[in-house]
Amino acid sequence: MRVMSQVAMVMNLDKCIGCHTCSVTCKQTWTNRSGVEYAWFNNVETKPGVGYPRRYEDQERWKGGWVLDRKGRPALRSGSRLKRLSSLFANPGLPSIDDYAEPVTYDYDTLVSAPAGQDVPVARPRSALTGRPVAVTWGANWEDGLGGTPEHGAGDPNLGGGLAEKVRFEFEQTFMFHLPRLCEHCLNPACVAACPSGALYKRMEDGIVLVDQDRCRGWRMCVSACPYKKVYANHATGKAEKCTFCFPRIEAGQPTICSETCVGRLRYLGVVLYDADRVGRAAAVPEETDLLDAQRDLFLDPYDPEVAAAARADGIAEDWIDAARRSPVRALISEYRVALPLHPEYRTLPMVWYVPPLSPVLDAVGAAGGSADDPDHVFAAVTRLRIPLEYLANLFTAGDTDAVAGVLMKLTALRSHMRARSLGDPADRGLLDAVGLTPEQAEDLHRLLAVARYADRFVVPTAHREAATEDQGAAGFRCPVDAGQGPTPLGMPTRRRTDEGAP
Ligand code: SF4
Ligand code: SF4
Repeated sequence: MRVMSQVAMVMNLDKCIGCHTCSVTCKQTWTNRSGVEYAWFNNVETKPGVGYPRRYEDQERWKGGWVLDRKGRPALRSGSRLKRLSSLFANPGLPSIDDYAEPVTYDYDTLVSAPAGQDVPVARPRSALTGRPVAVTWGANWEDGLGGTPEHGAGDPNLGGGLAEKVRFEFEQTFMFHLPRLCEHCLNPACVAACPSGALYKRMEDGIVLVDQDRCRGWRMCVSACPYKKVYANHATGKAEKCTFCFPRIEAGQPTICSETCVGRLRYLGVVLYDADRVGRAAAVPEETDLLDAQRDLFLDPYDPEVAAAARADGIAEDWIDAARRSPVRALISEYRVALPLHPEYRTLPMVWYVPPLSPVLDAVGAAGGSADDPDHVFAAVTRLRIPLEYLANLFTAGDTDAVAGVLMKLTALRSHMRARSLGDPADRGLLDAVGLTPEQAEDLHRLLAVARYADRFVVPTAHREAATEDQGAAGFRCPVDAGQGPTPLGMPTRRRTDEGAP
């Protein structure tokens, strides 16, 4: 067992109101400059919808992430190293500016400088790239608030397998929720494995994936290899840039800027400990529906004395082990098991997980003539929710509807229990028993999901700069699964100086 630490995130999708504050504050902090006008390190997309960039989840088209080769070893979907090198100058897996949406600004000056007249002055849109007037026909969240869903919703790659027939896109009958996305700071990052220059790396101390700007040669293999399309090419410098997980703030023990400013208070940050020796095997399990459990099994219990001793032996500081015990991310993923990874079938082992949205379940019980106090009626309603289980399963469990239903039933039981408690009704243990929660656990989970304070949502220990070492060089790095070589004990995240990596 080799214990490593990772700062990870969980988002509770039931609380996202789609205000885009996270995206705007991220942009102001990191990409408010020329070269990356079009880039949103954090974006919020409406689901169902085609996402940003357009249909990024269609890996047949973009060739992102990992697949198993004939020997059952993870290999980059974009092909062998030779194949990738042969497409250095003509890479078909790169989204165009039309896929991202041309960034626009507006003639704001007209609003204050137009001469007095009968008409109200208008700030016309202009391309932020060319300065020329443009018609705005696409955006990073074109379906926002269902505005474009009837027209574009069916293009959502998660609606494959006949699901598009089941989902209604008429305004009165459809469903929607918001999906905030950023780089997943994966345990098995395809972007890192695809880089021919060794410019991308995963930090040993906190798992943050960064781009070394001095090493980047602008080949953009990382852009196509990332299945979440969360690496961007800066067209002014020619180099790759990506979400930095706000590493200067994390090192100071502060949450990322998207988490700090989130209006819905739905983001959680914390440390998880994992067994680096098992990363390769977890990424290589044959059945895609087993990837969720394989990834959950990677996480180690920091309360286990053996794990704590191994963590100390592997150089993890005592305050980080303590933070892992208090981590809200660990609690939501491993203890209560209500958080799920986005697209585990990409095999990158993402480190931003989501509590799936629960449609109004008690309405569904009432509509079916059931009783909100009867566990059978309540759990049966989960399968009839407006958001089809299959759709959530395609997003979070590689198609395993039982795994999604299990999480939704737990959330439903919690909601019913807390409702009864708030109304002063007698406690019904049946619902909680059915999902394996004690009343004390239900109280704790409710506190965490509904009313957690700042210090409970963000448990981020400060960095140990004294432990940071000099750059180990490209030879010192590989991601836990080496490209084309299958699971290997050789490839490990590298420890770097903590002042590197800023774009
Ligand atoms: S999501 Fe994963 S593969 Fe994509 S840029 Fe981030 S670490 Fe790399
Ligand atoms: S700030 Fe929070 S609530 Fe608003 S869109 Fe972002 S994640 Fe959702």
